[in-house]
Amino acid sequence: MEDGPKHQGRRRQLAEQLEGKGIHDERVLDAIRKIPRHLFLDSSFEDFAYQDTAFPIAAGQTISQPFTVAFQTQALQLQPTDKVLEIGTGSGYQTAVLCELGVKVFSIERQHELFLFSSSMLKKLNYNYVGKFGDGYQGLPTYAPFDKIIVTAGAKQVPPALLRQLVVGGKMIIPVGVGSQKMLSIVKVSEKDYQVKKLGDFRFVPMLEEKE
Ligand code: SAH
Repeated sequence: MEDGPKHQGRRRQLAEQLEGKGIHDERVLDAIRKIPRHLFLDSSFEDFAYQDTAFPIAAGQTISQPFTVAFQTQALQLQPTDKVLEIGTGSGYQTAVLCELGVKVFSIERQHELFLFSSSMLKKLNYNYVGKFGDGYQGLPTYAPFDKIIVTAGAKQVPPALLRQLVVGGKMIIPVGVGSQKMLSIVKVSEKDYQVKKLGDFRFVPMLEEKE
């Protein structure tokens, strides 16, 4: 599949829609205008790729709705020097958005098929990041701590390892709940204290533990 003026036009429209829904971070809107989302989907979805909708990808997973991607990215309040950990690489689209914002990106995916697909697509598009095949509940202790952590699957509870791997002053955006989720913003204010805010209701595929 190619990327052409037809796709670029659709992306501009999508960015406008997201702006109408409350996305105001220009860097996030620029990333939406730039990244060829249709390449992260099966070619049969080419005509729908710029609708503000989630779609099925391999291994029974989904690519998040563009609004959700933009909302979580905006909520992270990224700084150019940030080290960011993403849990649930999936298609790799959210990973590309993070890379476009110029931060250092680490991403974990537990489905091997998706790990391979996202690695090759992100490489083809020249994105630099560290991708790992593994269990996001464990985080990435060897690369910790992280300034920001973004979880893109619904967690039953906040994984303790991820809280440990956040710097003091760092922030995690994570959907928590079974069935549907509350999006939480968690700021680590000291080694032991966290400030938690609810940012709204969302629906994600479940974050699975190694043995599930
Ligand atoms: N950001 C992705 C979202 C994919 S859906 C995108 O927009 O394409 C959530 C992803 O989290 C799925 O790919 C799923 O396989 C992955 N996932 C679920 N549990 C996980 C875990 N414990 N560790 C890492 N990834 C996990």
